Amino acid sequence: MPTDSIAAEVSRRRTFAIISHPDAGKTTLTEKLLLYGGAIDMAGSVRARRNQRHATSDWMAMEQQRGISITSTVLQFGYHDHQINLLDTPGHQDFSEDTYRTLAAADNAVMLIDAAKGIEAQTRKLFDVCRMRGIPIFTFINKLDRPGREPLELLDEIEKVLGIDVFAVNWPIGMGETFRGVYDRLLHAVHLFDRTQGGRRIAPVTVGSIDDERMRALMDEQTYLQVAEEIELLDAVAAEFDQRRVEQGLLTPVFFGSAANNFGVQLFLDAFIDFASKPGIHRADTGIISPEDTDFTGFVFKIQANMDPQHRDRVAFIRVCSGRFEKDMTVHHTRLGKKVRLSRSLKLFGQERETVEEAYAGDIVGVINPGTFAIGDTICLGKPVAFEGIPLFAPEHFATLRNPNPSRYKQFLKGVTQLREEGAVQVLFHQDEAKRDPILAAVGQLQFDVVRFRLESEYNVETLLEPLPWTMARWVSAKHPDDLETIDWYFDSLGLKDVEGRLVILFKTPWGLQQMSERNPHLQFHEIAPSS
Ligand code: GDP
Repeated sequence: MPTDSIAAEVSRRRTFAIISHPDAGKTTLTEKLLLYGGAIDMAGSVRARRNQRHATSDWMAMEQQRGISITSTVLQFGYHDHQINLLDTPGHQDFSEDTYRTLAAADNAVMLIDAAKGIEAQTRKLFDVCRMRGIPIFTFINKLDRPGREPLELLDEIEKVLGIDVFAVNWPIGMGETFRGVYDRLLHAVHLFDRTQGGRRIAPVTVGSIDDERMRALMDEQTYLQVAEEIELLDAVAAEFDQRRVEQGLLTPVFFGSAANNFGVQLFLDAFIDFASKPGIHRADTGIISPEDTDFTGFVFKIQANMDPQHRDRVAFIRVCSGRFEKDMTVHHTRLGKKVRLSRSLKLFGQERETVEEAYAGDIVGVINPGTFAIGDTICLGKPVAFEGIPLFAPEHFATLRNPNPSRYKQFLKGVTQLREEGAVQVLFHQDEAKRDPILAAVGQLQFDVVRFRLESEYNVETLLEPLPWTMARWVSAKHPDDLETIDWYFDSLGLKDVEGRLVILFKTPWGLQQMSERNPHLQFHEIAPSS
């Protein structure tokens, strides 16, 4: 395929993930983006789909039991001439390492904030991962239809707490009961919305200049005067909008709205299409891979096991980085050094699977190849390349995993090793080799349940899990290896090693970490595993 037609496909694509704390409105916003993208006619269907799939017979037993969603979905929809890939980041009880890994496959992030709550814990953690990758971050401040915090105060919080500059692209007109719409600061236009029944359909909008008497007449006089004053103030003090700084992740464009009422959703989507980065370059061992390169490349960022015994397949989610993916293609698997035919390639919309015929950089395809893939694997055509792997993120939950039945020990070890390789959980070991029970370490509690469930159903091994009181882990490195032998230990900490033999120290509180780092200024503590 000629390079310029690949380039045209790449430039149409926008791939992003929403980062937020539970209840900020991610499901609602996702649904509204689909509504405005024309992928659904009426809001309510995504949630309905979510509920409905619990009723289907081939759904994971565990999901049914717990009534939650483990599978993250990739939603692809067209908007004007663009192709949008929205990667769903698992949240709530299903928050896990997958949530972080999904961000490794996104080119942009949308940070969703509840106007009454401001920055919350989970948003902050996810923000840090995006910041580390240097991807553009767009902010949508939601629920303006309810009494919330002052817009200026929220902007201030984003700048101070997250350390990123802000540019308010639009400004709310009223708040709570009086919330009528937004003023677009780039296009200098007022957008006044009408509420629709339950926000299920696109909100009718009246657009005009702020100086237009007819627009003014549509607003409450006091609200109008306040907005006019705030906009003047913002224009006088705020920095200019700088697209380059947005691309570098140094400036976040901020939008106000109400996902539930569809206020500001379309303006957001339009601006997002304009300002978001198209699929970018990726670093590999051979150098930079550009999305327009003709040779296909991609990497695995997530592996989803279907726990239903009738359909015990594993879907490896691949982020396409360059070239053209085609159904049934045979690719080079760099880690294994062999050819693999991608015979079953899927696009997933919620639980619905559809065969993918072709895909380009920025797209996500799911392939079913049992046991062939691990997190971070590269597949490619042409000259073999290997992308920089997906980092390991500091776990926050720890437990000893025991196998009470010695005759199953071999199976137990095999299962734990395979699940670790697949990325279902991290495994840590005592420095003292005599202590054989592995310690499971995870970003989300659910990962433990998944591991135990799969050990039992796939390896026929029952296990006992003993939760441990640690809540933080840091990989530790030193300039001189000898420094790792002379550590001044804080009593409430535990030194372990990871599967590559790197030192990992566990703590119960941030205080413990602080104590250790003060006592050992020669050591570096990492939230993300340093390359060994
Ligand atoms: P998630 O946990 O982030 O996926 O959040 P949901 O989309 O499930 O929303 C959490 C709650 O906030 C639900 O009750 C939504 O109806 C509500 N919600 C979402 N957006 C808005 C909004 O713009 N205004 C108001 N008042 N409520 C909203």
